[in-house]
Amino acid sequence: MNYHIFTLFPEMIEQGLNTSIIGRAIEKGIIDLNLINIREFSTNKHKKVDDYPYGGGAGMVMQPEPIYNAYKSVMDTKVEKKTRLIYLTPQGKVFNQKMAEEFSKEESLMFLCGHYEGVDERVLETIVTDYVSIGDYVLTGGELAVMVLIDAISRLIPGVLSNNDSADYESFQDGLLEYPQYTRPYDFMGKTVPDVLISGHHANITKWRKEQSLSRTLERRPDLINKAHLTEEEKKYLKN
Ligand code: SAM
Repeated sequence: MNYHIFTLFPEMIEQGLNTSIIGRAIEKGIIDLNLINIREFSTNKHKKVDDYPYGGGAGMVMQPEPIYNAYKSVMDTKVEKKTRLIYLTPQGKVFNQKMAEEFSKEESLMFLCGHYEGVDERVLETIVTDYVSIGDYVLTGGELAVMVLIDAISRLIPGVLSNNDSADYESFQDGLLEYPQYTRPYDFMGKTVPDVLISGHHANITKWRKEQSLSRTLERRPDLINKAHLTEEEKKYLKN
């Protein structure tokens, strides 16, 4: 997967993503980060990239030309015409696991990080294919948001996680939250691991995990239960 990221703060993303699992995937060449500093595409002699908003109001707005020039340089040399360009914005569709799965199937993706009061609408209309938010709150810039997307997308790409199976049984994969996890020691401050998990009885373990997953989702995220495709047996369990 090739990620092309248009930003005013490439160092923030580089430091944030070059560690742990994603850092290793970059090292192995499974994913590639191309960080494009929008400021380098300013034609202004002071490398200015923002200006006051037309119509007045607080803050500065990112100008269209440096962003378009940066985009064009990547389009001309590095990506296919059909590559999606995702603008991180609180006005976008709220990111979720399903979107992460969809994006992880692409060969390359472009991201635009806004800053200040945002970006001139005309360049957005010209280059953006997807508007994505990471939640209903406002950040100072799109850099943290793009790191969230890249982390969630990348771990679904084969070879990024060391154990490929581990992405299969997680929260949201089947529309529910994951069951609780336990590891050594068996006894932690007088709390022991549930007996079923050390029984060696795989069918019982699977059943227990499904029930835990259902009751946990009902307790913590009841909104997900209504959307999940439950079997008759699962519905019966929830009623009791
Ligand atoms: N004035 C804009 C508005 O009200 O929609 C907010 C601008 S925000 C201060 C600056 C930049 O941070 C945005 O252009 C966007 O790239 C990013 N950003 C802020 N909140 C975000 C969120 N919830 N999800 C994704 N990106 C966000």
